[in-house]
Amino acid sequence: METFSCDNPVNDKFKIPSKVSRNKRSDNTVVEVKGIAIGGSEVIMIAGPCAVESREQLFETARSVKAGGARILRGGAFKPRSSPYNFQGMGEDGLKLLREISIETGMPVVTEVMDTRQIELVASYADMIQIGSRNMQNYPLLKEAGLLRKPVLLKRGMMATIEEFLLAAEYILSQGNEQVILCERGIRTFETSTRNTLDLSAVPMLKHLTHLPVIIDPSHGTGLRWMVPSMAKAAVAVGADGLIVEVHYKPEEALCDGHQSLSIAEFNTMMADIDKIAAAVNRKTSLS
Ligand code: PEP
Ligand code: MN
Repeated sequence: METFSCDNPVNDKFKIPSKVSRNKRSDNTVVEVKGIAIGGSEVIMIAGPCAVESREQLFETARSVKAGGARILRGGAFKPRSSPYNFQGMGEDGLKLLREISIETGMPVVTEVMDTRQIELVASYADMIQIGSRNMQNYPLLKEAGLLRKPVLLKRGMMATIEEFLLAAEYILSQGNEQVILCERGIRTFETSTRNTLDLSAVPMLKHLTHLPVIIDPSHGTGLRWMVPSMAKAAVAVGADGLIVEVHYKPEEALCDGHQSLSIAEFNTMMADIDKIAAAVNRKTSLS
């Protein structure tokens, strides 16, 4: 494998694989998700519930986030839950609802795939597939995603270094799929007051090392609804190309991650604030 050494005084052994490296391509890769460009001048908001729970929940939330400025809808149909007794997602019925509301609203959809056996099914409904934190080092899944000709949202493993994250992305690119978006979603540290420690330094570091777009997930990154808008604003200030945020029309009734999901009103306020930060760093949002 061709690798590039990076001028890194902190770790002089630091090497990055070739296809993701900025040395290979100095301009930024722009990934298009059904006409929505990620990695260009607009900071792209991806929003929606953690999980698809019902037609009403998904459709009401989707219509509201669209009205508030979201460009892409998120929602899990297959959920990686810590306990096998928790809600596991609606499966294919959830995928069908995502497709239906995507057609109604015109928003492309991103949804997670957990298993190589589901990738064809999920890709047949989704505009972008998500590989979650727990699967960042599922190499068979990364290779299958590399064979798709669809954008892939790759989330950083909760224990993964930047180097391991880039190697995971390289798996996808090495199979011919160059439409990869990297997502920092918090890493495990000794800190317990937040769900994870959101590594915002990953944004400038990744932008330095790779040409791929980088987005931030402040919802899983903090686990705390009230902290999400602050970290979202900070993410835009450090150069993130987008955000993926959990929003629920009734967060207190959510079957999954309600404690970190924004209400519609909170989402709208956050979008307006993000627009101001984006302007300060010469970027746009859908509101600008
Ligand atoms: C998610 O975005 O739905 C999710 C499960 O996130 P992560 O893989 O980052 O935990
Ligand atoms: Mn979640």
